[in-house]
Amino acid sequence: MAKVYNGVYFVAGQDDFIPDSHVYIIGDPASKDLSLVDVGLTGKGNYKLESIQQMGIDLACVKRIIMTHTHLDHIGCLAEIQGAIPGAELWIHKAEAEPIEKGDDRAIYGMEAFKGMCQMQYGIGPDAFQFKIDRKLEGGETLEIGSMIWEVIHIPGHSMGGIALYEPVAKILIPGDVIYADYAIGRFDLFGADAAQLKESLGRLAQLDVDILLPGHNQIVKGVSSDYIRKTAKMWEAYLV
Ligand SMILES: [Zn+2]
Ligand SMILES: [Zn+2]
Repeated sequence: MAKVYNGVYFVAGQDDFIPDSHVYIIGDPASKDLSLVDVGLTGKGNYKLESIQQMGIDLACVKRIIMTHTHLDHIGCLAEIQGAIPGAELWIHKAEAEPIEKGDDRAIYGMEAFKGMCQMQYGIGPDAFQFKIDRKLEGGETLEIGSMIWEVIHIPGHSMGGIALYEPVAKILIPGDVIYADYAIGRFDLFGADAAQLKESLGRLAQLDVDILLPGHNQIVKGVSSDYIRKTAKMWEAYLV
């Protein structure tokens, strides 16, 4: 686990049979009001919790878990994390929160064939992803949490309720799986994905002034070039129709 910036910490995903998402911890530790952004793949809860504690962070200071989206590689170990931090709230965009409350797990697995494979591989039961959601995000919120300000931006396309978190002072963007380093973008063939929406979402992100890019997987980037997101969107434009 590493410090990215004051009030932003990073635990790298530990890829397995399938990828494990990174976890970001946001908030000034002195505020004792920290948030986890995503948790990761099934079975990775202990690894994530130990990494967070090794950084000297008291789990009791984690007040909420904010999901960029609810694919299995981001939400898989949520029950493990909630077991260790029972007081933490769960915040998810309403488009993915509502299915989860009803026990509809299509957005978790993304495709039926993948669901069967993952349930078998990880011993996941049929109702493993029914959670109570404490706050349904809509996009457009300004969150004043952990002595920082984060803007919530709804960026569907990779998934229905994907969100980015943007911190305008240090120009930090946490976009989930919508855009990565090296001109890569999230896949748009899973349940709830939509290529045209993804194009629009990339266009929205391209308008932000971003210096630090903290995606759900692979490299994190400091010193992002000013036209990186616009160039990436342009490269993929022909495929996003
Ligand atoms: Zn995803
Ligand atoms: Zn992912």
